[in-house]
Amino acid sequence: MRLGVFGGTFNPIHVGHLRAVIEVQETFTLDRLLLIPSANPPHKGAEDIAAAEDRLQMVRLAVQGLPSLEASDVELARSGLSYTIETLQYFHNYFGPESVIHFVVGVDAFSEITTWKSYHQLFATAHFIVMTRPGSTLNNLERFIHTHISRDYQYDTTASRYGHPRWCSIFCLNITHLDISATQIREWIRQGRSIRFLVPATVEAFIKTRGLYR
Ligand code: ATP
Repeated sequence: MRLGVFGGTFNPIHVGHLRAVIEVQETFTLDRLLLIPSANPPHKGAEDIAAAEDRLQMVRLAVQGLPSLEASDVELARSGLSYTIETLQYFHNYFGPESVIHFVVGVDAFSEITTWKSYHQLFATAHFIVMTRPGSTLNNLERFIHTHISRDYQYDTTASRYGHPRWCSIFCLNITHLDISATQIREWIRQGRSIRFLVPATVEAFIKTRGLYR
């Protein structure tokens, strides 16, 4: 099975996330793509973060009716900070060696990978799909990979990926650029502005009913 894992704060999930994962799922012909809200994100301050259960519920609403996309509560089921390495190892054990795991990440998050727990181990556990994002560039991805991850990664132009003799690959994917962030959505809610078409209608209704981000 070809599995995709997309982690995020999803505070709230928005159409930038959704369009991105649809393009990833189609390009890499993934059988399942799991969207995983981080219960206790190590890199984000607690203030302004909606309850993990609410963020999970918004992800559930957002993927309704979208084949291959699923919300996963795996990080809510664990206590403590939510570390990606633990999530990837969990799926590695759960689905067994026949499954191929792809970890999906925007280039902004990827450029901070050296601050993640056991980050070298991530590359021994899952392939990476690094997506472009407006406002974020990693000018020299190759140099970044060689400096911070491993010198043994070599670019393979035919597959748009960096391959490694022992570790998993790092793929780069140009996606449709939607300049949308959860930060901006939260700010607009606070200002009483509309967020229509930035999030699915079901998510917009949930935010309103629960009175989130006011
Ligand atoms: P915030 O503004 O609160 O920091 P965010 O909009 O960046 O939130 P996250 O939940 O932190 O959303 O992001 C989860 C993942 O989705 C990250 O890998 C990030 O790079 C990616 N991502 C978020 N928004 C977009 C977008 N508009 N286009 C492409 N990737 C995105």
